[in-house]
Amino acid sequence: MNLKREIIHFAKKIGLDRVGFTTAEPFLKEKEILADRMARNLVSPFEEQDMELRWDPQKLLPGVKTIICFAMGYLMNPYDPMETSPDEIKGGPVGKISRYAKVKDYHFVLVKKLEEIVDFISKKEAGQFKIMVDTGSLMEKVAAQRAGLGWIGENTCLFTPELGSWVFLGEILTDIEIEPDTPMENRCDGCGRCIKACPTGALMAPFQINPHRCLSYITQIRGFIPEEFRKPLGNRIFGCDTCQEACPNNRNVEIPNHREFVPDIPLERDLKKLTKLSKQDFSKVFRDTAAGWRGRNVIRRNAVCAIGNSKDVNTIKLLESLTKDLSQTVREQALWSLKNHPCL
Ligand code: SF4
Ligand code: SF4
Repeated sequence: MNLKREIIHFAKKIGLDRVGFTTAEPFLKEKEILADRMARNLVSPFEEQDMELRWDPQKLLPGVKTIICFAMGYLMNPYDPMETSPDEIKGGPVGKISRYAKVKDYHFVLVKKLEEIVDFISKKEAGQFKIMVDTGSLMEKVAAQRAGLGWIGENTCLFTPELGSWVFLGEILTDIEIEPDTPMENRCDGCGRCIKACPTGALMAPFQINPHRCLSYITQIRGFIPEEFRKPLGNRIFGCDTCQEACPNNRNVEIPNHREFVPDIPLERDLKKLTKLSKQDFSKVFRDTAAGWRGRNVIRRNAVCAIGNSKDVNTIKLLESLTKDLSQTVREQALWSLKNHPCL
């Protein structure tokens, strides 16, 4: 078996669903697109701001010759089928959490697996390696497309044929030369369902997203939620899956059920409880997931906003008490939620 086959075999053995190889050629076409996005203020603060690090892999690992791209599916049964989860449970309204944030934080899971792969390769061939998992620098969706893992849809997500866009991506950069794969042809048919479904117009045009209008980004900012996004947020607590749910290419996909992604404690979705989340409970429940990285008061503020969008009359007293909360952001949000509560 040659090195490439051995890597693929080992990666699949440890639970990575797809593996592809591409060269470390700079992403010149994307460099232009990026420059245009920068000029129009369409780059989110969570992305790397040094543009050279994004389009030129040599800046990330001098001498790099190959980018090995990996995808791992994260859909879980039984609690995470494609059907939209209910907005209410016995006892009150519930919040919606993006599928990727409901499972165990993929950063830890993927980095650990890619470290195992680096160990595996190092035993066969000496080389330099750099692991990348959502660092915001390498253009990982573009690299994945070039490595034949899938295609980029009009909603700017990377889709794989078997798992749809419900995948986490990770890469290993290396100075070992490995034969590249052929990029996959684009299977997005331009139906426009994702653009139509987007509640805020964040998908401005095919393949163009304004991150500042994207509810996934809005649920993660600190401080006050800009007024125009409070109603469109609905009952979202963290992230937004709407444009992915709208895509026909995400129907009838495989549910990989990776055990690594099962969190120790299922996420709390009861909005009333979330508004009162203690430090201890926050760290117990959210510590393991990608929904926790912006802190407790971001989750509490989003829950207060979602309650203001609910039709539950029993939440009014709770909102009144939250107008005296220690957090200024929560207090301000509670005032808005009271003013805009459908039952008042
Ligand atoms: S994640 Fe939500 S808000 Fe963001 S582009 Fe998709 S549908 Fe629009
Ligand atoms: S919904 Fe249609 S246009 Fe959007 S990504 Fe899917 S196939 Fe492409």
